[in-house]
Parts: sequence; structure tokens; C-alpha cells
Amino acid sequence: MAGLPRATIVNVGYRSTNYWVVSAATSRLLVDLGYPGTVGLLRANLERKGVPLSEIRYALATHYHPDHAGLAQDLKNAGVPLLVLDVQVPAIPLMKRFMKPQDRYTDIAVHDNVTSSIPASRSLLATIGIAGEIVHTPGHSDDSVSLLLDDGSVFTGDLTLPSLAEDRDRPTVVESWRLLRARGALVVYPGHGPARPMGR
Ligand SMILES: [Zn+2]
Repeated sequence: MAGLPRATIVNVGYRSTNYWVVSAATSRLLVDLGYPGTVGLLRANLERKGVPLSEIRYALATHYHPDHAGLAQDLKNAGVPLLVLDVQVPAIPLMKRFMKPQDRYTDIAVHDNVTSSIPASRSLLATIGIAGEIVHTPGHSDDSVSLLLDDGSVFTGDLTLPSLAEDRDRPTVVESWRLLRARGALVVYPGHGPARPMGR
């Protein structure tokens, strides 16, 4: 993908969860989408970091858990299209199960999202000027994906470290990390905690 400039990365997270804005100039992708009921907080953080909501071309949840996809519909309602991988579609209706009325969760409509296959993700990202691909990385959940940029930055959501995985999940987790490494991942931008080198 020669010709696409290197993307910049800004964290607009809160409550110990990272929400990453990946930008190619003013064309932006939001990776992970806030807690339910906190759209004001996310908007304030975007403003503070100089990211106009109108410049976010897609919202992408690494997986459909409340702290990663809780504002997906609120963002859609504010004009940000939701990019969904086909491997994530079955997980979206299950989000409701985690929610209580006091969470102020807005249920995610499924008919109006931008759905991509994993192999088609590179060309879709290229349309917004971002050089990279989306990789299916199950282990923490079946619907977990990672955004892998061509510069080696990888956004892994809650992909568990092998040493912390449950025994039954460990082979899946190990395979997901192996795949990311094989495809060129160098620096991990996790859903929680600081960015870190990929390591061995
Ligand atoms: Zn999770």
C-alpha cells in the first residue's frame, strides 16, 4: 500500500478503557466505542483531543462487550457509520444481555451497518486512506477482531495474553497472537493499559 501516509494514533479513552482514534490526516477511524450511556464523555474527550466527530468515517468495535461497543448506536445516531465484520454480526444482538435499564444502553440496529468480510477489510480501509487490515483474533470472544496497520501498530481490544488465558481458550489465544505476529504486528495498542511492544 505504498502511497498511503502513516496514520496517527490518539487515545480518547476513559474509565481505564482505551478508545483509539486512527487518523490519516482528517480521515479518521474510531477503534472501540465507549461505555453505554457515556456519549457526552466520549464527545468531550474527542473535542479535547481535537477530533471532530464529523471527521470519524467509521466506528469499529474490536468486539461486542459493553466497554468496547456500548456507544455504537449513539455514534450511528450522531452520523458515524458502524463498521462490522461478518464474524461479529451474531454477537451484536447479545449485547442487550449485559445491560440493565440504568446503563442507558442504546440497542444497536443491525440493518444499517457497513458490513465487511475479513478479506475485504484492506480495500475498505484504503477507501478512508488507512493502510492496514482487520484480522479475526478470537480467544477473548469469538467476535474479537484486531486492526493491524501496515506500520505494525495493532489494536487488539481484549485479546488475552496467553499467560492469563483460561486453559480452554489458550490455544485460540496463542493462534491469534501468532497470526498477528506473522502479519507484521510490532506495537500493541490494547483495550486496557498502555501501548507496548509486541514481544516474542
Ligand atoms: Zn471484552
